[in-house]
Amino acid sequence: MSFAALGLSQSLARAVAEHGFESPTPIQASAIPVILQGEDVLGLAQTGSGKTAAYVLPILHQLLTAKRSNPRRLQALILVPTRELAVQVGEVVRGIAQDVPLPIKLCVAFGGVSINPQMMALRGGADVVVATPGRLLDLIDHNALSLANVATLVLDEADRLLDLGFSAELGRILEMLPTSRQSLFFSATFPADVQALAATLLHDPIHIELPHEPETAPDITQRAIVVDPDRRAQLLRQLITQEAWSRVLVFAATKYGTELVAHKLHRAGIHAAAFHGDLSQGGRRAVLDAFKASELQVVVATDVAARGIDIADMPVVVNFDLPRAPAEYTHRIGRTGRAGASGLAVSFVCADTEAHFRLIEKRQGQRVPREVIEGFEPAASATLAPEGDGFEAEPDQAPQGLDPNGGVKGKRKSKKDKLRDAGLL
Ligand code: AMP
Repeated sequence: MSFAALGLSQSLARAVAEHGFESPTPIQASAIPVILQGEDVLGLAQTGSGKTAAYVLPILHQLLTAKRSNPRRLQALILVPTRELAVQVGEVVRGIAQDVPLPIKLCVAFGGVSINPQMMALRGGADVVVATPGRLLDLIDHNALSLANVATLVLDEADRLLDLGFSAELGRILEMLPTSRQSLFFSATFPADVQALAATLLHDPIHIELPHEPETAPDITQRAIVVDPDRRAQLLRQLITQEAWSRVLVFAATKYGTELVAHKLHRAGIHAAAFHGDLSQGGRRAVLDAFKASELQVVVATDVAARGIDIADMPVVVNFDLPRAPAEYTHRIGRTGRAGASGLAVSFVCADTEAHFRLIEKRQGQRVPREVIEGFEPAASATLAPEGDGFEAEPDQAPQGLDPNGGVKGKRKSKKDKLRDAGLL
């Protein structure tokens, strides 16, 4: 199937081809015709599915075919949870728009950097704004833009927007939008709070949820290695070296943890860096560029920061700490096995996180056999999970008091505990 067959203009279809996309992905094939007809859309889609172009292309089509006002009025507002995603979406818009016959003005706005250049960029208006909610509100408060004419609103990674606590900001933004508009809502997961947000925002939406067809399901091998917490850094080092992992994304629970693990690897001669929200914008960009250029072999990231790492070729993902929410596990392992490549997702499971990992298994409906690596046998108390379907009988929540990231809720960890958790003692 071609992009033109979906109803996109010939010039846009040509621009897409210039961008290197030969044929639409399943979500693009489903969503583009519906969005072109002006319907609201509720899309359940993961990063990696091609969802960005699924909404960017119809927006560009509408801009190319609509009458242009002068000064420009903001037509399309794309809200995203993180600055990295803002940059990525901006790159898709810019990359395709540069090959269309009409100039399209884009402004990408996010916090953590000076607001002045973003205010300057909005002078004379913009056709498309990609923004994180907090900075968008700042710009509105500075009278840098108005939402009065927004024809299309996109919420990308709506679940993350809520996870990151943007609910109040979204409420304020929604109040400023015209009631007659098209709304496109994309989320990787669909818990109750996301459903409630979708219900307030969308009008009679078309649901797009792609069936998990075996032939298109990502080819991700999952491994779970039982290990004591204080041996994890050493085990990680050994695996990276012995299994010759070329590029590894490691998830740690805290910013502090990312720094410690990266430091430990670096000291062992492995090119590794931490990636978290406390890094400056320039610092994050430098880490990403080095990772993409294979100057860094390992990036140790927190969940929030890792949303901005869009590298299709990611052969290995490691859960140094398990994710707090089972849904996050799916996000994490989805970073590997993209674009048809096979991937490997390795989780370190410790005695006090075994129950939480079983909950994760239950949620994803798949058991992962436990492994023990020679030389890293856990101490006697850490037992392997029973075989069979025992995990079916697990309670729906992590056992009370268990902090899935290690430790017991309510008990503050000492610095020594933190170092031990990070495998540095
Ligand atoms: P997304 O899910 O929007 O983050 O896209 C995931 C990756 O797929 C990005 O690297 C895109 O450049 C790529 N992509 C999106 N649409 C297509 C397409 N139709 N053909 C090839 N690659 C695509």
